[in-house]
Amino acid sequence: MRISKQNLVEGSSFLRSKKSKNFDREKFMIDNMEHNLTFKEELKKFKELDKDQYSLLLRKFKKKYKDYRLSWFENPKKAFETGNFDQFNPLCLDIETASICDLACPHCFREYILTPDKIMDFDFYKKIIDTAVKFDVPSIKLNWRGEPLLNPKLEEFISYAKKNGILEVSINTNATTLTEKRAERLIDAGLDQIIYSFDGGTKKTYEKMRPARFKKNKFEDVYKNIKNFHFIKQKKGSFFPITKIQMVLTKDTRDEIEDFFDLFSNYVDDVTVTQYTERGGNLEKIPKKEKNKIDELIKKNDLSNNTNFFLEANGDLNVSVGRKPCYQLFQRLMITFDGRVAMCCHDWGAQHCLGFIDKKSFDIDETLKNLEKNIIDNKKGFELLKNAKKPTKYNEPPKKITNIHDIWNGEELNKIRKIHMEKQLDKIDICKNCDFKDTYEWKKIN
Ligand code: SF4
Ligand code: SF4
Repeated sequence: MRISKQNLVEGSSFLRSKKSKNFDREKFMIDNMEHNLTFKEELKKFKELDKDQYSLLLRKFKKKYKDYRLSWFENPKKAFETGNFDQFNPLCLDIETASICDLACPHCFREYILTPDKIMDFDFYKKIIDTAVKFDVPSIKLNWRGEPLLNPKLEEFISYAKKNGILEVSINTNATTLTEKRAERLIDAGLDQIIYSFDGGTKKTYEKMRPARFKKNKFEDVYKNIKNFHFIKQKKGSFFPITKIQMVLTKDTRDEIEDFFDLFSNYVDDVTVTQYTERGGNLEKIPKKEKNKIDELIKKNDLSNNTNFFLEANGDLNVSVGRKPCYQLFQRLMITFDGRVAMCCHDWGAQHCLGFIDKKSFDIDETLKNLEKNIIDNKKGFELLKNAKKPTKYNEPPKKITNIHDIWNGEELNKIRKIHMEKQLDKIDICKNCDFKDTYEWKKIN
């Protein structure tokens, strides 16, 4: 089998194709910093640089990137050790340039949490980037709960961030609308990383896992888009964006890992498979295929069905023996299309809202009401979303406009951080039921 087993690490557990086993995104970014558009833009500010000055500037950029990656885990660790968490800036903003999605994947949160079909306004976005630059935020991801390519101005969004000093800009995409024209434009805009989500190694499974809302989503079209992107990037001689593809392992896809790797290993830098059930679900939700072996372990270890588990992609079972503080509170902030700020990527419905950075966000109740109506009326594009419900609000901040800086350092987020450091995650509604595996202490039992 062309699979390399990964160690259990904080943050992720996945299988990788052997071909992309040695691909190291951080090393790639540092080694190729000269080709990063943000660096090139900085160079333009100087009339002439001699060799030494050029090297110095390049080293400065490489160091900034290295520091950012190191801080990703070091900042939370330092905060936990010292109890002092007001000395860090966010390292990433996840900006929802589009909350609409053209697919209705059965495993997606959109299936059960109403998510508006909207795109972000460019002028509002520019304000976010201007604050992020002032705040020295090194990276942004231009999507959260939707498909970013459905924002027709996405390339302008990317370009604005790169020209203004954001070191790393990434997107996750389902690639359904990744035409050749858009591929060209994304590369020219200076995108640093594109991550494709593609479930299945065959047409049958892919089309079952990734059904479309408005017109049929065809395996061969999306496959062609991803391959074309590779050839266009190659033709342009472009180093960026880094390309990565990931498949979620479910009962439908688990027998197609090899096919998946075969499909993409020649066209994408990094090909990975992630275990769907890695997120701390209850033992009763263990997939049937693993059930017998796991049942024996449950009995042997005298575990209740409510015990949270984490099933690694290689089949090893871990059970939860406690909770631990969440790193995300010290790493990033999520911004919805309309300017609500949420604390982490697991708060799909922005249920624990931290604050508002645009007045449009005050209209959310009306937007959701209209969505509900579309579902009840079984409008085209909503047929597959009939189980989606309005998210319960766990926190309602005062209705005033503030900014990212004040939210990051604000009372509400600091209160949550403190509760996390006391390992009292159950006191926060959204965290109590969170299935993010990195917020549990795990014990391997096989
Ligand atoms: S493409 Fe992504 S956001 Fe859209 S429905 Fe599928 S999993 Fe959800
Ligand atoms: S524990 Fe879960 S819900 Fe709470 S901040 Fe972390 S990821 Fe978000």
